[in-house]
Amino acid sequence: MVKKMDFELAEEQKDIKRAAREFCEKELTPELALEFDKKEEFPLQLYKKAAKLGFTSMRFPEKYGGQGYGLLEDCLVIEEMCRVDPGLGVAIMSGTFALPDLVLAHGTEEQKREYIPPLCRGDEVSAGAFTEPEHGSDLSFMDTTAVKNGDGWVINGDKQFITNAPVADSFCVLCQTDRKAKPTYRGESLFLVDKGTSGLDITKLKDKMGIRPAVTGAVSFSDLDVAEDKLVGELNKGFYYVLEFFDESRIPIAAQAVGMAQGAFERAFSYAKERKQFGSPIIQFQGISFKLADMATKIETARLLTYKAAWMYDQGKMDPMLTAMAKAYASKAAMEVTDEAIQIYGGYGYLADYHVERFHRCAKITEIYEGTTEIQKLTIMRYLLKRM
Ligand SMILES: Cc1cc2nc3c(=O)[nH]c(=O)nc-3n(C[C@H](O)[C@H](O)[C@H](O)COP(=O)(O)OP(=O)(O)OC[C@H]3O[C@@H](n4cnc5c(N)ncnc54)[C@H](O)[C@@H]3O)c2cc1C
Repeated sequence: MVKKMDFELAEEQKDIKRAAREFCEKELTPELALEFDKKEEFPLQLYKKAAKLGFTSMRFPEKYGGQGYGLLEDCLVIEEMCRVDPGLGVAIMSGTFALPDLVLAHGTEEQKREYIPPLCRGDEVSAGAFTEPEHGSDLSFMDTTAVKNGDGWVINGDKQFITNAPVADSFCVLCQTDRKAKPTYRGESLFLVDKGTSGLDITKLKDKMGIRPAVTGAVSFSDLDVAEDKLVGELNKGFYYVLEFFDESRIPIAAQAVGMAQGAFERAFSYAKERKQFGSPIIQFQGISFKLADMATKIETARLLTYKAAWMYDQGKMDPMLTAMAKAYASKAAMEVTDEAIQIYGGYGYLADYHVERFHRCAKITEIYEGTTEIQKLTIMRYLLKRM
């Protein structure tokens, strides 16, 4: 039976949020945030520290080294991380991106035991490689191929915009295994590829607008051999597995957006109380206070949608329409709130040292990855048309 949703977090969930907040406020210092934003490097030591405390493995079962919580608890930690710093927060919480979720859902017991525990411990970093130079929103055909060769498979092709690629120990790669399949997406499969495999080449993509510590790369496969036991789940089911994964992973992106908006809002609120013009703190001008009221309202709405989507997922009642609404709304709210935060800071908001411009730069990605806002709206409409 589905438990009724409670609009207040349980005590244990509040404790998780508090612990994550304490960790972030101590470790993700403004100096480190500026440094990593400039040097565009993955914060490996911070990732390991967070992993040791269990923050990066909230959603994985204890059996494989995780904390045994759900997606909601994962979202609570993500929100706190991104509230303190959007770049470091996304980087740390993306270290265990995609591969362990797909292996947990569809992999063999051997794959689960091999890949998930080192990720939960923070000893390794993973990547999910779906996007290609010619295939982004539309993953229904892949130019990257995996061709059967004796006991294994040979992979050739290119992937684009892959989070963690420059530091990843393992990749979960979507390949076309049947080029004649009709429809084409019925011929896609997922394979696990380990760092250092001959034929794997990675190029770091630099000068990103935001989330710079969450490093990104282009990945190419040239006659790369993988054994049969690196196939994840059933042959030619990869497209379905990835779409199912997006229904999960879009919720943590909404949580990133909520955290980024909250962090920028808190900074702007404090600044508005301190900054004086015309003899008064600017928060006393209605033009500024109304902005803050609107910002707080948008954040709370985004948070409620995100928590509800996560809670439904945890109850085994995942609703793709709600997930898409949470991601589309929270990312838009993050863009609007971080923009207003800069406005409240005036000229100082335009400078890196005052931090809010970084929140705005980082927020943009939440409207793009894990399905753009336009793709979320297509999903929302598809379900509305079915249900109304
Ligand atoms: C920093 C970063 C990290 C990323 N990390 C990963 C990762 O780890 N793994 C991975 O596989 N991918 C990753 N991506 C890729 C990301 O998911 C894609 O960029 C995204 O899905 C959009 O694809 P695209 O860039 O090819 O844009 P396109 O699909 O070419 O879209 C261009 C524009 O057209 C719009 N559009 C497309 N189709 C429609 C339609 N039917 N109706 C209306 N509008 C439409 C889009 O919304 C967008 O505005 C990352 C991207 C970035 C920038």
